[in-house]
Amino acid sequence: MALYEFRCRECGSTFEVNRPMQQAGDPVDCPGGHSDTVKLLSTVALGGKARTAQRPAMAPAPAGGGGGCCGGGCCG
Ligand SMILES: [Zn+2]
Repeated sequence: MALYEFRCRECGSTFEVNRPMQQAGDPVDCPGGHSDTVKLLSTVALGGKARTAQRPAMAPAPAGGGGGCCGGGCCG
């Protein structure tokens, strides 16, 4: 089993579903009963969640034009 995160596009709520990996892509209903849900990027929680962020001090602040919308997972 793995934990997958979904988001409902009708009410905007996010929720997690624990399901086998074989059914990772299956549709799932929102807790509110809506069926228009999308799976967010796999935040698979299989034990250790400690992730050491090792970033080289090259680009501390991305100076972009703000072209991406991936903050909310809306372009997945
Ligand atoms: Zn909903």
